[in-house]
Amino acid sequence: MSFQELNLHPDILKAVEEEGYTSPTEIQLMAIPKVLAGHDLRASAQTGTGKTAAFILPALNKLIVRSTSRARGPRILILVPTRELAMQVTAKAVAYSKYLPRMTTVCIYGGAPYPVQNRQLSQPYEILVATPGRLIDHMERGRIDFSRLEMLVLDEADRMLDMGFIGPVEQIADATPKQRQTLLFSATLKGNVLKLSERLLSDPQEICVHAQRTKHESIDQRLLLVDNMNHKIRLLHHLLREEASQQTIVFTATKRHADELVDILLEEGHHAAALHGDMNQRQRTRTMERMRQGKIAVLVATDVAARGLDVHTISHVINFDLPQSTEDYVHRIGRTGRAGAKGIAISFAAPKDKPLVRDIERFTGQTMTPVTIPGLEPTHKPRPAAPKQDRNRRPPFRQRERVSKGRPVQEPTERQGTASPTFQKRDGAPKPRRYSHSPKRAAHAPR
Ligand code: AMP
Repeated sequence: MSFQELNLHPDILKAVEEEGYTSPTEIQLMAIPKVLAGHDLRASAQTGTGKTAAFILPALNKLIVRSTSRARGPRILILVPTRELAMQVTAKAVAYSKYLPRMTTVCIYGGAPYPVQNRQLSQPYEILVATPGRLIDHMERGRIDFSRLEMLVLDEADRMLDMGFIGPVEQIADATPKQRQTLLFSATLKGNVLKLSERLLSDPQEICVHAQRTKHESIDQRLLLVDNMNHKIRLLHHLLREEASQQTIVFTATKRHADELVDILLEEGHHAAALHGDMNQRQRTRTMERMRQGKIAVLVATDVAARGLDVHTISHVINFDLPQSTEDYVHRIGRTGRAGAKGIAISFAAPKDKPLVRDIERFTGQTMTPVTIPGLEPTHKPRPAAPKQDRNRRPPFRQRERVSKGRPVQEPTERQGTASPTFQKRDGAPKPRRYSHSPKRAAHAPR
């Protein structure tokens, strides 16, 4: 089936064609007719499936009919968990609506200055893309008028709940008109996400796209057993030197690890940069832009910061530290193998990580192929049986955002790396810690 058969406006189709899309993805085929027909929808779909276009295209189609209301607020509200995803969704909304007159998208998220957002919110606009915390903040200051809102989209709802946004999401939904159309997209439709959808959606249609299985067929997933931190660093050097052909994202568990690793890589002559939540928004945007322009070869990132990063030339994802959850694993490796390209995901795992590796394999339905690099094999012997309880496993991700009475809601933060081991240089000398990372790094990193 082609985009032409989906009954979308020719001006939207023209923009879609310019994006280089030749045919709709599975989720687009399933979702667009239902959204155009006015149904509420809950969809289980991962990032990388084309889910953003699955809701933005029909939403834009609806906006072509002029609103009868004279109010100034948004007609479509898209809630997303992170500022990176907010920026990515906004970029897509702008691209898909480029041939539609009077179609303005406003993007608001925490960590950015208020005056620009206040100005944008005071002018007429149709689409609002927002993270829940900052949106509540603007709502409490009386800057948002939801009276003409027609559609509420919850993107990556599971992630929003993981981040502790359940209260803010419900508060926002309560402030919108009851007769709105509501769409919920989530990696899974279980537990709290399902309960939330039951509260917010009315007689919803449901679709399920097994994204990670389809998607990850284009990603070669490998497992490298590691002894310790020094072994990881030697393996990373080898992979970056011998294997990584285009751009690589290296994921670390903490911001401090990311900074320290970038220092080591810069010293080794790699075009490396960090991306994490301690950097201000300007630095993060600039880093992502340089990544897109191919000026950075190795991006060392944490989970929160890298969500939504959409760079088609990322050939390798390296899990220097394994993620905390299976969902994070899926999101991480989804940074490669994008838009039909092949990708390689390599995970470093210590013996204590085995239960997590098993969880990930169960979740994705795929095995990570154990590989060794000659001369860099692990020295430990594999143990025959898995321990009953893995005490070394990292603690569960803490809830990082709460609404407190009368106080603005904070954007999510990442874990501090206080308990993690200090990196060692290759000669075994302890690496001095550096905390004033960003400006220095910007100056060091090749442009
Ligand atoms: P998403 O799952 O929305 O993050 O989209 C993943 C990637 O697929 C993005 O780079 C989109 O630009 C791209 N994409 C979305 N729809 C299509 C399509 N129909 N054909 C090809 N690429 C697409």
